[in-house]
Amino acid sequence: PNAQKTVRDCIRTIPDFPKPGIMFRDVTTLFADPRGFRMCIDQLLHPFADQRFDHVAALESRGFIMGGAIAHQLNVGFIPIRKKGKLPGETLHEEYQLEYGEAVMEIHTDALKPGDRVLIVDDLLATGGTAEAGVKLCRRLGAEIVGCAFIIDLPDLGGRKRLEDMGLRVEALCA
Ligand code: IMP
Repeated sequence: PNAQKTVRDCIRTIPDFPKPGIMFRDVTTLFADPRGFRMCIDQLLHPFADQRFDHVAALESRGFIMGGAIAHQLNVGFIPIRKKGKLPGETLHEEYQLEYGEAVMEIHTDALKPGDRVLIVDDLLATGGTAEAGVKLCRRLGAEIVGCAFIIDLPDLGGRKRLEDMGLRVEALCA
């Protein structure tokens, strides 16, 4: 009768956003819930408890909210992977396909060095294109991706398989 809310219970689905037919998973309600936000960060890190990281690298922009909390909790540095044109220093960039058209993600060339152990985070894994771009940027700098962590994995869209085929460990809290 008094069951505690789970992470999944704190996420809402908004129909027809940003376009008709899309069921948008809205994590703002999870981040707004103090217990939900902490549970989310703790549960994301649980499978990696025996791992050592140098950095968390997060994807703009909801990934930044999680990435900041994770970096603070693990005592590691935070690396932003941003949309084109936002980072002020010298960058590498990776193009990737969206449903319509393409997008570009960037990382500072001095953000990581060879052998750095990195956790990649974002709120949601769909086709995996965004996360793949982030992984490629980190790998081009010589970093080792220890794993990729998401709050939500939409398995029908193939993102998990795509990342696993790149030799990556993928962890998600819910579908
Ligand atoms: P992918 O590149 O197809 O895997 O799409 C994942 C990216 O799109 C992530 O950066 C997500 O933040 C964003 N995204 C796609 N669908 C949703 C959604 O329903 N809710 C929140 N973010 C989404």
